[in-house]
Amino acid sequence: MYIISKCFLGHNCKYNGGNNLDKNVVEFCESHSYALVCPEVTGGLTTPRFPSEQRREEDGSFRVYDTQGTDVTDNFVNGADTELEIIIREATRFGELIEGAVLKARSPSCGHEVIYDGTFSSTKVKGNGVFVERLIEAQHCNKEIFADNFRILSEDEL
Ligand code: SF4
Repeated sequence: MYIISKCFLGHNCKYNGGNNLDKNVVEFCESHSYALVCPEVTGGLTTPRFPSEQRREEDGSFRVYDTQGTDVTDNFVNGADTELEIIIREATRFGELIEGAVLKARSPSCGHEVIYDGTFSSTKVKGNGVFVERLIEAQHCNKEIFADNFRILSEDEL
């Protein structure tokens, strides 16, 4: 089973009310078992919504704010945790390993290794989106459900 950002398949869950339809991801899903996630909507945020970015503190903690200055950290964290609970439960129920994830690059939820820096100036920094950070933690805590060669890819790496 692969974890896929829902907006890749044309679901209008992106912050601006649109999607990130991606032909390569659609084709990939035609031949693989998958589970769709949108941690931001699952966390209770509306569509459309103001764009958000993660701000990292020097001590390693983080908060997520939208462009209006609203702290939406709880929505991001709760949505990520809920999605992971569902995926782990479903993988267990169907006896499937979680083989990998294809997640939207640079998203404050789904971004892997590179995200925006929280200044809304298109400045990129090293880091993971909130969902990806929780996914990596879940992989370490539930090794029996994740394939040994589990990996997280963006649409650019697929
Ligand atoms: S949270 Fe992830 S799945 Fe949802 S719109 Fe953003 S990038 Fe797509």
